Amino acid sequence: MKLLVWDFNGTLGYRDDHWRGAIQDLLTAEAPEFTPLPAQLPAFFRASFPWRTPEVPHPHLNTADRWWSALEPIFERTFRSLGVDPARADRLARSVRRYYCAAHRWHLYPDVLPALDALSAQGWQHALLTNHVPELPQILRGLELGGRFVHLGNSAATGYEKPHPRAFELLTEAVGHPDEIWMIGDSPTSDFAGAQRAGWNALLVRQTTPSAAEPSLANLDDLVTFLAAARPPHSLCNTLALSTL
Ligand SMILES: [Mg+2]
Repeated sequence: MKLLVWDFNGTLGYRDDHWRGAIQDLLTAEAPEFTPLPAQLPAFFRASFPWRTPEVPHPHLNTADRWWSALEPIFERTFRSLGVDPARADRLARSVRRYYCAAHRWHLYPDVLPALDALSAQGWQHALLTNHVPELPQILRGLELGGRFVHLGNSAATGYEKPHPRAFELLTEAVGHPDEIWMIGDSPTSDFAGAQRAGWNALLVRQTTPSAAEPSLANLDDLVTFLAAARPPHSLCNTLALSTL
């Protein structure tokens, strides 16, 4: 099997204004007197998501309710920091999940479906390995990506955030150790470095400031072209070849 393992956020798709957008949507609908949001949400908000501490596994948060319950105190504290009274902040915190996952707020980059089709025609299978929320399968279905992947590796389900080595091991165990495997993602640390440590080939895409050590393909059209030409053995050689594209 030849397998491409995709990151999701920033690689295949995105949520409008991400977590800040979810907070904005929620307050606009349910507590508009606290909008507009300040330019920056509190630092503790951004620091509290499980992918910010990938060295800490969380397999005990293995249901959607447990996963969201672990974050609700952070949401509550965020609302209180905006001036919401404690009882209302507690209530609003439990609604972040619904607003974050709202299907109309999620989008694919326009080159994704043509690239997946072209790569499938080249003989590649596709899997996902992403640090995400438990509702990822529903989000994918809303984007008509539901049936495209042989495996969904989601940190909210496994408890291991990229670049934790176990996140990569679990995926190869699940798919049966493919003959050829590439990680495709937009994060130099979570995707590129994590995959290389696991012995996978790795490619960065959509980086706005690529470096010589970590070159990035601008888009998935370039990825299709690159993979049509690229052959093993290894990511280092193939990655260096990017600079000649
Ligand atoms: Mg990403």
